[in-house]
Amino acid sequence: MGYEVFRRMLKRMRRYIFFVGAACWLLGSLPREAFADQCSVQVAATDQMTFDTDRIAISRGCSRFTVKLVHSGKLPVEVMGHNWVLTRQEDVRQVAVDGMKAGPAAGYLPANDPRVIAATAMIGGGQTASVSFDPAQLGGAIEYAFFCSFPGHVAMMRGTLKLTD
Ligand code: ZN
Repeated sequence: MGYEVFRRMLKRMRRYIFFVGAACWLLGSLPREAFADQCSVQVAATDQMTFDTDRIAISRGCSRFTVKLVHSGKLPVEVMGHNWVLTRQEDVRQVAVDGMKAGPAAGYLPANDPRVIAATAMIGGGQTASVSFDPAQLGGAIEYAFFCSFPGHVAMMRGTLKLTD
């Protein structure tokens, strides 16, 4: 093998190493970007009285977390209203009951209730609503739940929310 050939090979190898390095760097940086994107989630609610997810995980790295609720159905808010309410798991039942008592004008949610950590507006088919909150309010060892407080919906529309590393 002549020196010239060896040099060319070395050059090619160096380029190869550069590309592999660049690819690794790109791949390594990808999850971090996805991580940042995970500080929000879209939840769809339907005319069949369902959420499209029953589990939400929030990274401790998020300084703010946003839930965007999309009512993908067609029924009006008076008939098939949906909201997204976050409480401790143990508070779900009572907040749902108190929400029913609060009535439609209050969006079926007691006003200024400390048990309600976050809640969107009550919306009808085709509408969207968002809510943002600071995950630092959530204690790691406590179980949280999200649900819809429209009368009767809590049985079907309910999921768990937890903090992850
Ligand atoms: Zn609902």
